[in-house]
Amino acid sequence: MKPKRGLLVVISGPSGVGKDTIIQRLLALDSNLRKTVSFTTRRPRHGEREGLDYLYVNAKELKTKILEGQVLEHATYDGNIYATSAAQVEEARAAGYDTILKIDVQGAEQVRRSSPDALLIFIAPPTFDALAQRQKKRQSDSTQEMAQRLKIAELEMARSREFDHVVVNDDVDRAVAEVLAIIQRAREGQTK
Ligand code: 5GP
Repeated sequence: MKPKRGLLVVISGPSGVGKDTIIQRLLALDSNLRKTVSFTTRRPRHGEREGLDYLYVNAKELKTKILEGQVLEHATYDGNIYATSAAQVEEARAAGYDTILKIDVQGAEQVRRSSPDALLIFIAPPTFDALAQRQKKRQSDSTQEMAQRLKIAELEMARSREFDHVVVNDDVDRAVAEVLAIIQRAREGQTK
């Protein structure tokens, strides 16, 4: 029997808010979830792995994929291009997996237009100061890059109302439970 098509779940929110940790926990807790691996032209950070964190490509290659319609959405963030493989999403959803995209707000807007049934979740920090502290702890970004990312974060926070749900990451266990409950309700077809 053909599996029921999986949901499309967008997880967005400012850099450093804890999206990766939340997604890792979700994937460990729920075997029906999958996450796509995006293309990026950004250089790998220390500890990142090709094919697991991102598919690292150059700008020319990625622009070609965009022109050929191989991506579901794409955005330029802090000077680098990021994009979601349309094939990855289609394969996972067709196989019945609820598929998570970890993308920025520009990408989320594109997904909302092309896939109105997508579930859009924004992860917000408890305060802006908390976000700045978390970014500092990450230490993988230069001071200049951090300042730029905080500026982008402010713009992103202002757009959180465009999402179906806003989950505050004040406590990671609580935030994960809230996101899982949202996904569960969508699975049951109760709400978006
Ligand atoms: P980072 O460089 O910190 O890994 O990611 C920077 C921003 O790009 C984050 O907000 C992240 O969610 C977003 N991002 C990662 N992959 C994609 C993607 O495929 N598309 C879009 N639009 N944004 C992405």
